[in-house]
Amino acid sequence: MSIASINGWCLTSLSPTQSPLKRATLRPSIFASLNSSASPSLPTLIRDEPVFAAPAPIINPTWREDMGKDSYEEAIEALKKLLSEKGDLKPEATAKIEQITAELKTADSKTTYPIERMKTGFIQFKREKYEKNPGLFTELSKGQSPKFMVFACSDSRVCPSHVLDFQPGEAFVVRNIANMVPAYDKVRYSGVGSAIEYAVLHLKVENIVVIGHSCCGGIKGLMSIPDDGSTSTDFIEDWVKICLPAKAKVKAEYGNAPFPEQCGTCEKEAVNVSLGNLLTYPFVRDGLVKKTLALKGGYYDFVKGTFELWGLEFGLSPSLSVKDVATILHWKL
Ligand SMILES: [Zn+2]
Repeated sequence: MSIASINGWCLTSLSPTQSPLKRATLRPSIFASLNSSASPSLPTLIRDEPVFAAPAPIINPTWREDMGKDSYEEAIEALKKLLSEKGDLKPEATAKIEQITAELKTADSKTTYPIERMKTGFIQFKREKYEKNPGLFTELSKGQSPKFMVFACSDSRVCPSHVLDFQPGEAFVVRNIANMVPAYDKVRYSGVGSAIEYAVLHLKVENIVVIGHSCCGGIKGLMSIPDDGSTSTDFIEDWVKICLPAKAKVKAEYGNAPFPEQCGTCEKEAVNVSLGNLLTYPFVRDGLVKKTLALKGGYYDFVKGTFELWGLEFGLSPSLSVKDVATILHWKL
């Protein structure tokens, strides 16, 4: 946890404490539709149990109003030092560094905007939500017991707390490029794995929802990877390749469709691949078998203003058979 103050307002932020199986066959199907008139409910069950015995450390860094300015001055000094040490820098490089230092010196509006924007936002949140729901926040101070774990895209247009009106304490959220869940891999994907493990084993969430969305740049990137698999980015393409099976399915079944249409289909198929990948986590499988956990796919179309939600019928290896009744809702907003 870190606590800081700017211009007399305080910020407190929590820092994150934070043999593949045979792939299941997934079959989403829609069977119901209704309006989105149901009102959101707030979480009521809060477990007053620390997950770990050790108390959480509290760090109180000093955050001064002029910290941004100091950072710029330090950067300028560092650049000047670089210039003096690298006397043999080419004229273009020297000019570039001097341009950067000049920009840093005149970056006042750039430095004040983000601070003012966040300050305004926090004040709005505190007045409209925090101070109007003292019971909720008192309850949340004892612990969290979210019913949902949500995978959503990092896309700034699809925040699940806005789209589904999740209140604080309701949803344990992981956001990444194209809302993907990789298969169990302790080396490559420990970040995602730790979040799933924490949500399922410690928070005991009852639902894991993977939410895709319209106009997803990550899916477009996946669909744009050349057939030879070559990549031109450090991380992005390697990440979205998690859902290559979705791309393959779309290319096989809709290969003649216009590219945007293929991308739209892949946005949903990728959700199903992620739901299948969730089955490679043993604690997820256990939760499904014990019926303490359900997996759902979702799709938010912000062009049409609709949200789809589906469950899955899937079969695993003969030694483990799980059948989840498909539960599909389609909300037209
Ligand atoms: Zn996206």
